[in-house]
Amino acid sequence: MRWTQTFIPTLKETPAEAEILSHRLLLRAGLIRKLTGGLYTFLPLGLKVMQKIANIVREEMNRAGGIEVLMPALQPPEIWQQSGRYETAQDVFFKAQDRSKREWILGPTHEEVITTLVASEINSYRQLPRNFYQIQTKFRDEIRPRFGLMRAREFVMKDAYSFDASDELAQLSYEKMYQAYVNIFRRCGLKALPVEADTGVMGGKHSHEFMVPAEVGEDDIVYNESGTYAANIEKASSALAAPFPEPADVASQPALEKFETPGVKTIEALEKDPYQVPANRQIKTLVYMVDEKAILILLLGSDQLNEAKLAGVVGSTNLRPATPKEVFETLGAYPGSLGAINVSGPAIYADTMLRNGYGLTTGANEKGVHVRNVCMERDITVTAWNDLRMVKEGEPCPETGEALKIRAAIEVGHVFKLGTKYSENLGATFLDTHGKQQPAVMGCYGIGVTRTLQAIIEQDHDDSGIIWPVSVAPFTVCITALDIDPESPAMKTAESIYQSLIDKGIEVILDDRDERPGVKFKDSELIGFPIRIGVGARSLKENVVEVKPRGGDLQKVSPDTVVDLVTTWIADNESPSA
Ligand code: ATP
Ligand code: MG
Repeated sequence: MRWTQTFIPTLKETPAEAEILSHRLLLRAGLIRKLTGGLYTFLPLGLKVMQKIANIVREEMNRAGGIEVLMPALQPPEIWQQSGRYETAQDVFFKAQDRSKREWILGPTHEEVITTLVASEINSYRQLPRNFYQIQTKFRDEIRPRFGLMRAREFVMKDAYSFDASDELAQLSYEKMYQAYVNIFRRCGLKALPVEADTGVMGGKHSHEFMVPAEVGEDDIVYNESGTYAANIEKASSALAAPFPEPADVASQPALEKFETPGVKTIEALEKDPYQVPANRQIKTLVYMVDEKAILILLLGSDQLNEAKLAGVVGSTNLRPATPKEVFETLGAYPGSLGAINVSGPAIYADTMLRNGYGLTTGANEKGVHVRNVCMERDITVTAWNDLRMVKEGEPCPETGEALKIRAAIEVGHVFKLGTKYSENLGATFLDTHGKQQPAVMGCYGIGVTRTLQAIIEQDHDDSGIIWPVSVAPFTVCITALDIDPESPAMKTAESIYQSLIDKGIEVILDDRDERPGVKFKDSELIGFPIRIGVGARSLKENVVEVKPRGGDLQKVSPDTVVDLVTTWIADNESPSA
């Protein structure tokens, strides 16, 4: 490809709209342009990278037995009603209306569509297992579209759905996909860590997310140094010792005692003078609405609620903190001095760290009043004890006891064992070996293709620009002709190297723009082509051209040997060892 015949609008200035580095580089290197928030046009180079990532995904999916299909992006709401997700998924839907005012959904995901297909096409265990996948545009009404391709309204996803005759076979399909994902991200040059993920209301160890550690990541992962434990913070637990290991001696506990705390509304305020109640001797009382019904959650004052764990415990993701008005309706008091003593209406979910607790302080459900000497067993009627807290850095690893670490990460992929929820609701059943109808056991597997593209940039860049691995670079080689007169020795040599590389099947771009060498070199670094070959009159006089791997050292080699040298270099660097 000749530079002048494609479209690469690089920018010198940093675009104001971009908040994070990878987003800035995508714009500056001329890979994408914004239409409006969360919607981007892929320019030729961006499209090329995306297609290369998609092809790696395709190759590995095919290798793992995946069958490529393409489903409609537009979906009828009926299948969502049938699956039981129509109400809960409302928030993410982009909807369209046809001429007769009928509603349509722009697909945020495709469990419903594929399961409908399987329901009509697959009837016997002989037709299983099957794993269908597609690479397609998804639409999601994100609360906060941001960071360029990271969280967009419209993005490209590879989504796969496996159908098996039993749990054991479904487990095999899951493991195959897990391995395919390891291969895909390695080939993309990405260090993506598989971490245990929250399965929400499904429960169990049935989900992994592939996470790229990065400061800008919107998820937090918890891991140990030896690499044997890694989990999304939503899922993570620790082996932290409970502060009250033994049952309290209830009989010898002092009586409850109210005390005035004018103006005190927070855990921190109660820690200070004149009260001096340590946070880990306070009870934090939260009111949540689950399916619009109030519940109470009790934690140690020093802990934070993990909503994902709560969702798992209550079996619903339809939950939110109660409004002050709802809090008042539940406890007769406003947030600031809430407590669960003598509360009998709403269910009370307590974190296990409070188990056997005594000598605790809590709110009295009266403005400016707290209660001390609380003994959990004596004073509070707990409905259920569960791990509801957020793990903190430094707590012991549940598997090895090492101090846990926490860092931010970008979720690029997700594998999930779904079970039979969708196959049951949408009728994807098959006749087993005994002639009995069974629902197929499903798994679903997503990769954000466009998010992966940006994650690669976020992971590999320097002050000059992007550093693409050979496997997904828009072009492997950029030949920078320093003289563009077709009759000049520089251009003639550049053309000859260009042709030879093309003949060898190498993807090469010839920078034939009428620009200063500095501009050309800067653009080549900014875009991040793995190799640049500079061809100029001055070095040709010494019978050399300049070869510079991105991020490596410049070498001078004769024009006759440059093609062999570059070909060897590419072969050596083709498969990244992430
Ligand atoms: P997130 O937690 O980041 O919102 P998700 O759990 O909703 O993601 P999945 O439904 O598992 O995402 O989708 C599969 C993959 O699609 C994700 O791992 C991610 O890489 C990608 N993805 C999801 N939402 C977006 C988005 N708004 N923009 C770009 N990529 C996305
Ligand atoms: Mg996910």
